Amino acid sequence: MNKTIIVSNRLPVDLKYIDDELVVKSSTGGLATGMKSVHSEGNGIWVGWSGLADEEMDENQKNAVDTALAKEKCVAVPLNNDDIENYYYGFSNTALWPLFHYFQAYTEFELTHWDSYVEVNQKFADVVLQQVNDGDTVWVHDYQLLLLPEMLRAKNPTLTIGFFLHIPYPSYELFRTCPWRDELLQGMLGADLIGFHTYDYARHFISCVSRIKGIEINFNEISYANRIIKVDSFPMGIDYDRYHNAALEHDQSSEESKTDLMKSIDFHNKSNDGSKLILSIDRMDYTKGIPNRIKSFEYFLNKYPEYKEKVRLVMLAVPSRENVAQYQLLKRETDELVGRINGDLSTISWTPIWYFYRSLPFGELIDLYVSSDVAMVTPVRDGMNLVAKEYVATRTKGDGVLILSEMAGAAKEMLEALIVNPNNFDQIADSIKEALEMPADEQKTRLDALQKRISRYDVERWASEFLKALKVAKDIVPVQV
Ligand code: UDP
Repeated sequence: MNKTIIVSNRLPVDLKYIDDELVVKSSTGGLATGMKSVHSEGNGIWVGWSGLADEEMDENQKNAVDTALAKEKCVAVPLNNDDIENYYYGFSNTALWPLFHYFQAYTEFELTHWDSYVEVNQKFADVVLQQVNDGDTVWVHDYQLLLLPEMLRAKNPTLTIGFFLHIPYPSYELFRTCPWRDELLQGMLGADLIGFHTYDYARHFISCVSRIKGIEINFNEISYANRIIKVDSFPMGIDYDRYHNAALEHDQSSEESKTDLMKSIDFHNKSNDGSKLILSIDRMDYTKGIPNRIKSFEYFLNKYPEYKEKVRLVMLAVPSRENVAQYQLLKRETDELVGRINGDLSTISWTPIWYFYRSLPFGELIDLYVSSDVAMVTPVRDGMNLVAKEYVATRTKGDGVLILSEMAGAAKEMLEALIVNPNNFDQIADSIKEALEMPADEQKTRLDALQKRISRYDVERWASEFLKALKVAKDIVPVQV
């Protein structure tokens, strides 16, 4: 029986050595959930990096890792510290990530990073090729592995290969600046189906293939090397039921079971009659528009001063890529902005911005989603943005307003949100006011429509639609002329 192999940079398992003991925790992240049925079916496996550097383990520890992973149907690609530095932090996160998110000034094209990127993609290919049989399906994920589809096809043309990009695909004018643009496209074109979150990203990709490689394209079918490669959009969803049910449980939770965070939110809500809470949650990443969001909140408070002492912005920023210089700069800028604004505007009974720089366990995330009157999701560029969808899923009482950046892929599906340009402070200030004053029936009408769509197209549906389309794509026979 043919099997499906999932490949991503990281395995969906967290491994840690604590006092010589290997602790294994499976991930509950979006991708892991979406892939659950694909991964558990038949003899399907997941290939990726374990998160532990090769030279930091002795032979016994490596064997213990492999055994623990095998139980989870996972196979590790061994990476050393140089790989992680040059392939992951280097080419993936200081070239591809900023370039694909339109941060050209942050983009660094380093030959050593590129060489490592090629080498590590080859390491992934070698491990996958050891695992496959002829006719198997391989689903490759994301920007760290753009070269992998072609590397696999070159060695085993019988494979059915799908590729999905989880970040935006930039326009030709940006992409053309990359010195290795040809090689990157060539790598992706090894797939039978190439998926993006939105139609716009797919269109940008097709335009790059046509202009850089001069290849003939018919609507969303690329004829290349005697094959047809399909390009399409598959907007990734969330595990809707998990968020919705957790919010229902939260509504019934007792006073004793409340977390400290929740108690303190309750305390402020009670003591500050009529006060409202605006929520913002993201990784601390320059694509998320965190400084803009803080500045636009300040702008709102100054434009509509009647809201001073009536509204708080609760901002959760999850630490991310802390050893990359731009992320350190962003952290400093955020700390300073929050400090200055709270210093300028706070009163004895009111702090305008509650800022948490950490990650929170699932239960506390749900507390935050459920307790917020408004969610502000205003990235300057974002492939999809799952926080926007999670907020909607947790609004079990039909109230709450989502302010959403038009630069997030999610905006294409969530038109009932208040859609804003993240750089337009005036528009954002007006949208915050509109959200805070929105009549209950309008909140409900907008949420109903959003919930219907997000619950129907959840992450499992996303995975199954992609795999269905992959099967169809593989069966297309090119017309011989
Ligand atoms: N998240 C989390 N812990 C936190 C805060 C957020 O696991 O403390 C999750 C959040 O629930 C969401 C994900 O991180 O599922 C962020 O996904 P998104 O698509 O919004 O952004 P990304 O970080 O992938 O760019």
